[in-house]
Amino acid sequence: MSDIRFEDKVVIVTGAGGGIGRAHALLFAKHGAKVVVNDLGGSTQGEGANSEAALKVVEEIKAAGGTAIANPDSVVDGDKIVQCAMDNFGRVDVVVNNAGILRDKSFAKMTDTDWDLVYKVHVEGAYKVTHAAWNQMKEQNFGRIIFTSSTSGIYGNFGQANYGMAKLGLYGLTRTLAIEGRKNNIFVNAIAPTGGTRMTEGLFPPGAFEKLKPELVSPLVVYLCSEHCQETGSLFEVGGGWMGKVRWERSLGIGFNPDEGFTPEDVQANFEQLCSFENAVHPKDNIEALKELMQNIQKFS
Ligand code: NAD
Repeated sequence: MSDIRFEDKVVIVTGAGGGIGRAHALLFAKHGAKVVVNDLGGSTQGEGANSEAALKVVEEIKAAGGTAIANPDSVVDGDKIVQCAMDNFGRVDVVVNNAGILRDKSFAKMTDTDWDLVYKVHVEGAYKVTHAAWNQMKEQNFGRIIFTSSTSGIYGNFGQANYGMAKLGLYGLTRTLAIEGRKNNIFVNAIAPTGGTRMTEGLFPPGAFEKLKPELVSPLVVYLCSEHCQETGSLFEVGGGWMGKVRWERSLGIGFNPDEGFTPEDVQANFEQLCSFENAVHPKDNIEALKELMQNIQKFS
């Protein structure tokens, strides 16, 4: 075990004016990082803007002896946030994509605005900030990126079709950027946090909200972003002092002769076996995922 320090590192945390992002920013600063505290300062539904939120967190960091700068841009203008890091600190080593909003409605009642705004902040915003920092990270041969997913994306949740789509989309982005970044020492992971913030007020049973302190999410994020950590392409659920890793599991499946063809009734007759998780596999990449399919072709050749 070694000390986890960020003295020569510049960290951008988006949506760091409150909640979980604020906790990340404070912990990175405590571990020596120069932090860009980004926050648009709007409502949970993505309305309005207020630069005070980010400024307040910067004051907190400075009061504790740390280094930080506030940035009030929206994540959809990600290039401005990265430019702010470059102008003030000269580099970007870590991007924690944390900014988020909610526009919860049952799918029947969801409007195009609800769909678009959630997509814009979570997916387009994370893309814009990360894309603006990517080439810097490649050039310096170091980068750490976190995307903030959600159990609502992994497992689904009533009233969160837009949010679930965006949050699982970020895991897809994580998987591919981990592959593309590996050779340049750019490691990319996703977290699905649970924390007592303004976003989750009233959602948890009495007593749980206070226990789900946002700062209980941050040690995992800070570790994943350290030089010592070689983890990439992974997804972690984290909150309330607990954390665990998530992976895909797929049934071993069934195979028909591709030359002879088969009917929907054949699928019906074998459906239980198709869905059986006995001897399930855990493909790590596309090649592993295609293994059983390729074996089936070979078996009947
Ligand atoms: P929060 O509302 O306290 O924090 C989100 C922050 O993002 C706010 O400060 C907000 O001003 C900022 N923000 C919103 N839109 C922005 C934009 N366009 N540009 C810049 N900043 C913007 O909520 P939180 O619970 O701390 O959420 C943090 C992240 O964690 C979000 O991505 C959220 O979806 C995710 N998440 C939270 C939970 C939970 O249990 N709290 C669960 C799953 C996922």
